Amino acid sequence: SKEEWEVDPDELTLGQEIGSGQFGLVLEGRWREMKVAVKMIREQCMSDEEFKEEARIMMRLSHCKLVQLYGVCTQRSPMCLVFELMKNGCLSNYLRTKKGHLSQDLMLRMCLDVTEGMAYLESSNFIHRDLGARNCLVSENNEVKVSDFGMTRFVLDDQYTSSQCSKFPVKWSAPEVIRYSKYSSKSDVWSFGVLMWEVYSEGRLPYENRSNGEVVESLNAGLRLLKPRLAPDAVYLLMEWCWKERPDDRPSFAALFYELNSLLTCEP
Ligand code: ADP
Repeated sequence: SKEEWEVDPDELTLGQEIGSGQFGLVLEGRWREMKVAVKMIREQCMSDEEFKEEARIMMRLSHCKLVQLYGVCTQRSPMCLVFELMKNGCLSNYLRTKKGHLSQDLMLRMCLDVTEGMAYLESSNFIHRDLGARNCLVSENNEVKVSDFGMTRFVLDDQYTSSQCSKFPVKWSAPEVIRYSKYSSKSDVWSFGVLMWEVYSEGRLPYENRSNGEVVESLNAGLRLLKPRLAPDAVYLLMEWCWKERPDDRPSFAALFYELNSLLTCEP
């Protein structure tokens, strides 16, 4: 029986390499007259069976500010995932490349794009779990879309999955995630605050010279990332709101969308 999410290998043409990540190589490709990005899943990197179950749900998540999953090709080894192609690559590299040439308007729109995608995930009760500029992608016309939502659940590398470990994204994680792995849309909001900081710092790494342990300590002491030079006060206030200790004190993505949108329309 053919599953709705199954991509027929005969319809998929593979092209040149465009990146590599946690799960393996990413290639440009063509599928049904569309340019696509194909993630080749390296052996033993992913819990395949669990992912296939989840792929159904992920394919139904469809929004203009989310990188669309078109389908999964399981008949090929390694298994590969077929996504919407984002010509300008990941947001963190894009910011670094455009350093010194990012307008206030563009930075605000980038943040707004992400809140729009995330507000959709929030309303779908879907938790991203690994939001950061590295997991957003930029389209040909500089639109930002959210990618890799929910995918950390299928990573088999132990170094990635526990907050005690080297690859865990501690610098983007809410305190309750670090302490008790308590993920929620509100922990995504915390990560979004760090993403906003990345945008207004033109792709710098947060807490650049500090270890994960030192970051945890300073968060516990109530310290937070400082205001980036390019961030207006109103934007930094939103970051601080995202970094409230208690999840309930943080805004929803719907509220963040409203707030950021009002800043956009207020601009001269
Ligand atoms: P992983 O989830 O395996 O860690 P990533 O999602 O980080 O992999 O992808 C690795 C790199 O491949 C990204 O940094 C980006 O440059 C490129 N890439 C991934 N997905 C796409 C896409 N849909 N369109 C264009 N480039 C992509």
